[in-house]
Parts: sequence; structure tokens; C-alpha cells
Amino acid sequence: MSIIQFRQTSKHFGALKVLDRVDLTIDEGEVVVLIGPSGSGKSTLLRCINGLETITGGDLIVDGLSVKGGARQLREIRQEAGMVFQQFNLFPQLTALENVAFGPRKVRGLSRAEAQETAIDLLDKVGLAEKANHYPAELSGGQQQRVAIARALAVKPKVMLFDEPTSALDPELKQEVLNVMRRLAAEGMTMVVVTHEMAFAKQVGTRLIFMEHGKIAVDGNPREVIDTPPNARLKDFLQHVE
Ligand code: ADP
Ligand code: MG
Repeated sequence: MSIIQFRQTSKHFGALKVLDRVDLTIDEGEVVVLIGPSGSGKSTLLRCINGLETITGGDLIVDGLSVKGGARQLREIRQEAGMVFQQFNLFPQLTALENVAFGPRKVRGLSRAEAQETAIDLLDKVGLAEKANHYPAELSGGQQQRVAIARALAVKPKVMLFDEPTSALDPELKQEVLNVMRRLAAEGMTMVVVTHEMAFAKQVGTRLIFMEHGKIAVDGNPREVIDTPPNARLKDFLQHVE
């Protein structure tokens, strides 16, 4: 079952072509790792999926709904596609618990008690139940990112989008976030992950996509593609990230 379909999707910022007639179908349960040089369009591709950017050509279908379908469809799409950013983006004035409970209350319309219960379960899932009443500033980067993952999961998305989720973290904190992502993948969550963590790509990814100039240059099995790069530019790119 496909959950995301890019159909000749383009995105321009003025004269700048950032996504160039992308065709890409992602099935439920896939863990797609997205790599490529800076500026190749990785973040934009993710942001189009949940409507943070509007596409300028072609179409993009998420869980059966077109991102061009209007405000109501877009709201639904945003609920189905949770996003985790490099810079965590937690609400600084809310505790970990309140950050996670926010979505279920606002988006899913849960009562305060129900939302809190959901939030506690999710904080427990990411190993942070004991930090429920801490504010973001009182948490390490790795802990903040795990709260951000719990917050994205709280609205029960069908797909999780990760944009360089460990790039702002010290090496020892990256692993705790990658472990949460590993567990999520093992549970069958559909994921699209922009990352430079090639070990993660090989272990967890079901598919690896290398982007260049707004196009998909390579699309294949992560182990095969990383161990035997089918094109010279990917080979060169991998030598610089590893
Ligand atoms: P990546 O994530 O692969 O580094 P991005 O998708 O962030 O690439 O950006 C692709 C290109 O689009 C870059 O040249 C970037 O400067 C440009 N870009 C991204 N967002 C905007 C924007 N809001 N306005 C204008 N240009 C943008
Ligand atoms: Mg980016």
C-alpha cells in the first residue's frame, strides 16, 4: 500500500528550481533514508509532504489526499505526517509533558486527562517518563529531541518525517535518539529520514535515496548502494560523510 506519491512534483522558489519533476512512491512500513549534498532539496522534499511548503508543479498524494486539495485536506495530511526537526523546536515555556500533550488536545480534541495520559505513555516510550515536568532548557539536546519525537507521535501520524534529527547533537547523545528511531522502525512505522548516519541507514533503512539538484539520482537498497555506489558522485559524497 503506497502512502506517499510524488507525481512529477516540482518546487520552485522564484526562479530557483529545488525539486525537479520528482516521481517517488513510498509504501507503508518503508524506512526511506534520504541523503545528498547541502542544497539538493532534501528538506524541501520532506516539507512538501506535510504541507510546510506548497508544491509548484505536478502533484503529491499523502494517504490518499492531494496536498493541493485545500485547507481541510492539508490539515488532515499534517496529522498523518509527523515531523522532527534538527533544532527540536519544542515550546520553551511548556514542560516535556505539556509539549507532548499539546497536539492531542488541539488536534485530536482529547480532554486534558486523556491527553496527559497519552503524553505520559509516549514519554515513557522514549525513556523520559521521569522528565515529564522538566522544561526544555533543563533537558539535554538528546532528551529534547526524544521529547520532540514523542510530541510528533502524539497525534498518531501514519508517517514520521525526520530532518537531520541528530545533526545538532554530540556523538554520545546521537545514539539515544537513533535508538528511539530504531524502535519506531521495528514497530513498523513508515519513516522518511534525512541523515548523515550511514550505519543507521544500513541497519534500519529499507531504501536509500541520493538526491542531487532536486532530482533522485540513486534509489536502492541501503547496503548495496552504500557498499557499491552505482555512481561516482554518490561514491564521492559517501567518502565525505563517513
Ligand atoms: P537540503 O535540505 O538538501 O540542504 P533544501 O531543501 O533546504 O536543501 O534547499 C534546497 C534549495 O532551496 C537551496 O538552494 C535553498 O537555499 C533553497 N531554499 C530552501 N528554502 C527556501 C526558501 N524558503 N526560499 C528560498 N529558497 C529556499
Ligand atoms: Mg536540509
